[in-house]
Amino acid sequence: MKIRYNLLKTEKNTQARFGTIQTNHGTYETPMFMPVGTRATVKSLSKEELKDEHAGIILSNTYHLWLRPGPDVIKNCGGLHKFMSWDQPILTDSGGFQVFSLAKNKRKDITEEGVHFKSHIDGQNLFLTPEKSIEIQNKLDSDIAMSFDECPPYPVTYEYMKKSVERTLRWAKRGKKVHNNPNQALFGIVQGGEFTDLREYSCKETVKLDFDGYSIGGTSVGEDKPTMYKMVEDGIRYLPKDKVRYLMGVGDPIDIIEGVIRGVDIFDCVLPTRIARHGQAFTRGGKINLNNAKYKEDLNPIDNSCDCYTCKNYSKAYIRHLITTGETLGGRLLSIHNIRFLIKLTEELREAIKNDNILEYRKEFLTKYEGKQKK
Ligand SMILES: [Zn+2]
Repeated sequence: MKIRYNLLKTEKNTQARFGTIQTNHGTYETPMFMPVGTRATVKSLSKEELKDEHAGIILSNTYHLWLRPGPDVIKNCGGLHKFMSWDQPILTDSGGFQVFSLAKNKRKDITEEGVHFKSHIDGQNLFLTPEKSIEIQNKLDSDIAMSFDECPPYPVTYEYMKKSVERTLRWAKRGKKVHNNPNQALFGIVQGGEFTDLREYSCKETVKLDFDGYSIGGTSVGEDKPTMYKMVEDGIRYLPKDKVRYLMGVGDPIDIIEGVIRGVDIFDCVLPTRIARHGQAFTRGGKINLNNAKYKEDLNPIDNSCDCYTCKNYSKAYIRHLITTGETLGGRLLSIHNIRFLIKLTEELREAIKNDNILEYRKEFLTKYEGKQKK
């Protein structure tokens, strides 16, 4: 089996969906937040810690694993699950996002064949094609692989975006042709920037290729929030109801709520672990920075309503001490909390969908989250 998405309920007042994803590594409920394990590890966390905070699918990065340790090493070690001792589902990205940011001369480096770029490790010249991306992901043996697409910067002209959408479609076909892992699902990626007609075109043509799921690409690249939400709406409208919809690289709590309301099922983002390393934590009252002196003797947990390991065991005062002295435990504890915060948010969104009250949930969440942040 590859994967199967079961739509169990659509919320009465919105496009929000409650469902399950069946994989060879278990069945998980959606909407879902997927923690990112860039180099086959969700930074500093063990698998038990991830499971304790109810993580479902996790994501890993093809580009980073291609460079180190290399897809053949992982294949010879029994595939990515065995290699990293993770028995739940894994989604791998295509490597495109990293490669595009490393290709300095866009005009010269992005060709019809693929993308030329320099390794971020040793500056070596490398070349990634749609076929190569799929070949690497086949070897990694993730549950879900992603098509190799062009990620244009924002903004670009209509003409550029049109050409880019066409190229992404040709690349999607090429990748699909060489995909040969019967246990791995392959997702197509919808592009088109902020242009409604190009989103529609990209969507319809990508769906014709009949992928196992679909991702809305090209968001979170510098556009404002209303534009981003419109991109999601424009992309999702033409996607089949019986396939998973994935919004890549989105992990801001408000964006997750807005995405779910528009019909997105799965999200991923490095945000919870990245901000943790800088001493920041999500709370119901907005994001806080534990470096702040006001937490010096604060014996409360980060968030009173949080059920994570960190909040059950440690105070803000202690975590602040760890963060300000550079102790590694500080970032770890904050990562655990931040990941749990987003996972719990999606759990609550699932309940709100079942109860047909997601708009009330959004209102309540925003009042608390934005209200305090402005103080
Ligand atoms: Zn917590």
